Amino acid sequence: MSSTLHTKVAIIGSGPAAHTAAIYLSRAELQPILYEGMMAGGTAPGGQLTTTTEVENYPGFPAGITGPDLMDAMKAQSEKFGTKIFTETITRLDLQSKPFRLWREYDDGEGDAPAHTADAVIIATGANARRLDLKGEETYWQNGISACAVCDGAVPIFRNKHLVVIGGGDSAAEEALFLTKYGSKVTVLVRKDKLRASKAMANRLLSHEKVEVKFNTEGVEVLGENKPRGLMTQLRVKNNQTGEEETLDANGLFYAVGHDPATSLVKGQLDLDEEGYLKTQPGTSYTSLPGVFAAGDVQDKRYRQAITSAGSGCIAALEAEKYLAELEGPDETTSPEQDSEVKKGNLDGADNAPEYRSNPLL
Ligand SMILES: Cc1cc2nc3c(=O)[nH]c(=O)nc-3n(C[C@H](O)[C@H](O)[C@H](O)COP(=O)(O)OP(=O)(O)OC[C@H]3O[C@@H](n4cnc5c(N)ncnc54)[C@H](O)[C@@H]3O)c2cc1C
Repeated sequence: MSSTLHTKVAIIGSGPAAHTAAIYLSRAELQPILYEGMMAGGTAPGGQLTTTTEVENYPGFPAGITGPDLMDAMKAQSEKFGTKIFTETITRLDLQSKPFRLWREYDDGEGDAPAHTADAVIIATGANARRLDLKGEETYWQNGISACAVCDGAVPIFRNKHLVVIGGGDSAAEEALFLTKYGSKVTVLVRKDKLRASKAMANRLLSHEKVEVKFNTEGVEVLGENKPRGLMTQLRVKNNQTGEEETLDANGLFYAVGHDPATSLVKGQLDLDEEGYLKTQPGTSYTSLPGVFAAGDVQDKRYRQAITSAGSGCIAALEAEKYLAELEGPDETTSPEQDSEVKKGNLDGADNAPEYRSNPLL
């Protein structure tokens, strides 16, 4: 006999998007389940914020809050309203079947039976900022090294200091220009002999008085204070054409070398963009498949913030809740024509976006 459990809605992920969706859905008494992962993609349950110290830009915490404390609070709030959380990673997802089928990493010995089936799924598996594995990176990660200038640029250790950005694309240019507000000087290391950034962005970067761009240059080693929680003070760099090395005095190093969205689960089942991010209809959480919703960094390569992830988690929950209600049968707020569109799966299109103002959750 199979031990597969059924749920109306399953959430995969454990960052701000997943927990916000869980809070809304559990308050709507839909008894969501949430798979928070067990070091999925190398990230602890709680997501990317578990890898940082102070979060100063999440509203409601004027004195700041640590990333792990913020995520613990979100998890507690999800559980408080009845979300059932599994500390396991989903390794396989079948979105072709109805209900959808989810397998977890360690199966329970029931052949190929999935752990759960679900009428709706919210994908909130996030993304991971790429690292460079430079010597000294582990020691000075978050003690000078960051993968998010917008998140960390304003903290005191970077004020009026020489900061270095690694990367040559639009994000690197944007991050470097952002850092000019805080640093005394910003050096951008570009591996190639030209920037990949758009012309306009490249021009802004190259003409900025505080910015120096070093082409054909790579980071080699991060050096710094030799004490617990010591800060970085220098970066050794190398010209990849001449092999020449030099040591820069620098107190900040920002990686802008891209992110890897965690979409391997849905590759081939849902539409992804050219960089592997889940495609959603602008302003909604709708993926290419009705009943599957996406929220957070897994579908957002532009803003990548805790608050924007939380906001999109809220959207996904409201859209999933509406989808489930409409699956269950016609209600008085939809016309028979709209209802049959839902049953056919035609929930896409901004014109079909459900109206939430009458939603009792709001
Ligand atoms: C070092 C650092 C500092 C940051 N600082 C700030 C800041 O100060 N302010 C701010 O607003 N933003 C900050 N950010 C960005 C912020 O952390 C992200 O935008 C936000 O966490 C994205 O949330 P998310 O819900 O999309 O998922 P994520 O936080 O990416 O979490 C996704 C989770 O899903 C899990 N998962 C993945 N696959 C599976 C699976 N198959 N099964 C189960 N679980 C799975 C992962 O393990 C992960 O725990 C920072 C990011 C980093 C890396």
